[in-house]
Order: sequence, then C-alpha cells, then structure tokens
Amino acid sequence: MLIDFHTHCFPDKIAPKALEKLAYSSGGIEYYTDGTIGGLKKSMGEEGVDAAVILNIATNEHQMESVNNFAASVNNNSDIFAFGSVYPDAKNALDELERIKSLGLKGVKLHPEYQKFYVDDEKMKPIYKKISQLGLILVFHAGYDYGAELPFHGLPTNFKNALKWIDTPTVAAHWGGIDCGIEVLEMLCGTDLYFDTSFGYCQMPREIAMKIIEKHGADKMLFATDSPWRTRAMEKRFLNTLELSDSELDAIYNGNAKRLLGINQ
Ligand SMILES: [Zn+2]
Repeated sequence: MLIDFHTHCFPDKIAPKALEKLAYSSGGIEYYTDGTIGGLKKSMGEEGVDAAVILNIATNEHQMESVNNFAASVNNNSDIFAFGSVYPDAKNALDELERIKSLGLKGVKLHPEYQKFYVDDEKMKPIYKKISQLGLILVFHAGYDYGAELPFHGLPTNFKNALKWIDTPTVAAHWGGIDCGIEVLEMLCGTDLYFDTSFGYCQMPREIAMKIIEKHGADKMLFATDSPWRTRAMEKRFLNTLELSDSELDAIYNGNAKRLLGINQ
C-alpha cells in the first residue's frame, strides 16, 4: 500500500492559472499533473497510489471558507483525505477550525510563508491550542520556499520554539525543512514531529537524509511527493537509495500514515 501524504489540487476553473503562477514564482519549476482533482486521481492510478492527503492553503482571510468548502467537496476519508486551512490573522480563524472539524476533515495545513506568520509567534498559540483540542492533524510547510519572499518564517529554530504549544500529531513537510537538513538533524530529530519525504529527490543530500532517518526514526517519516511538483517515481527512487529495511520502508510508505489517518486495512 502506498499513501502520499502531501499533494495539491485546485478547483478546475482556477487550476491552469494557479499552476502557471506558482511555477513561475518558484523559478520555473516543472509540474506533473494538470492541477485538478481529476489530474491528481489519474496520477494516483498511474503511479499506484492508494490514498492521498490533499493540502489546501488559505492565502488570505477572504478565501478561507471557500478553500475549506473545496476541501470538503473532494474529501472522502477513504482514498482522498483533504485537509483544511485557516488564515491565522482572520478574525474567525478559531470558529473556522471548528467548522473544519465538523466538515469531517482530518487535518489542517498552515504555510508560514504564504500566510505570513512565524511558526513560533505568540499570536499562533490560540490557533495551535484549538487545533490540538479538536484533535486535527497539523501540517506545516517547513524550511525554505522557492516562491516566497525573504525572510523565511518556518525554519528549524522556529519549530523547536513552538513545539511546546502544540499537542496534536504535527508534520513538518519536506524532511523537516527544505534546504535545512543540517539544522533539522541538530534541532528537530528526536522531537515528536513527523517529517514528510517530499522534495527529497535532487534536493536533499542523500547522506543527510540517511542520518535524519537514523536519528529521528522511520516511525515518524511519511512518504510524500508534493504532487504536482514531483512524481512518486522520483521520490521512491530517492528513498530506494537510503539503505532502509523492508519494515522501515513499509512504515514510511503506509504504516505511519495509516496510524495518523485512522485507516484500518
Ligand atoms: Zn506542498
């Protein structure tokens, strides 16, 4: 079984424009689906993915409800687990978290760059508290972001400071932080955070990846691609060079995600 814990798609009408815009601002990055839910499902079929987590991001206060309504419209908690999002500065962010829960979504994605907050800013405490109380899974973008303006807001030091305020399963995407492998090794390995494996291929030095898994444990790693920006074949090719045992690979490909998402099969 293969579960991809980090994918994206957009409403059909805006998908082509959204992909072009994001690809351009990220320096011309390639993409491998058409950005729609249909395109994501097609890629899952072609690449043998049994279930995917779709991470949606509300990049301003006004689109928050529609982003979460879109998530609910594609979510089935069977092969598609769409997560919601709140814009931290929105006046009704805490109420919207309750609505996310009532819509049946299992988690929330926060993006420190597109939502302009430092992960360890005190203003985030009530948001983290509410997410924890509701038992939602919390996924963060972590590390550098190729499409964002400096300074970066979610570096390993920010996560280390914020951990004491969070009491729910929490994922720092991209091996704990894009281009921050050394700092992840020093500061975040051994904490309760989960790391997803997206943007490993041609991004994370192999030796650092091996050290991260050795120190952090394969039971806190989640297979992920960041589709449409990467394919499963790319990320699997990278994982297959890390000299992991079959049971470690099994945990990364599906065991840990099943535990988090409550999939019993
Ligand atoms: Zn992503």
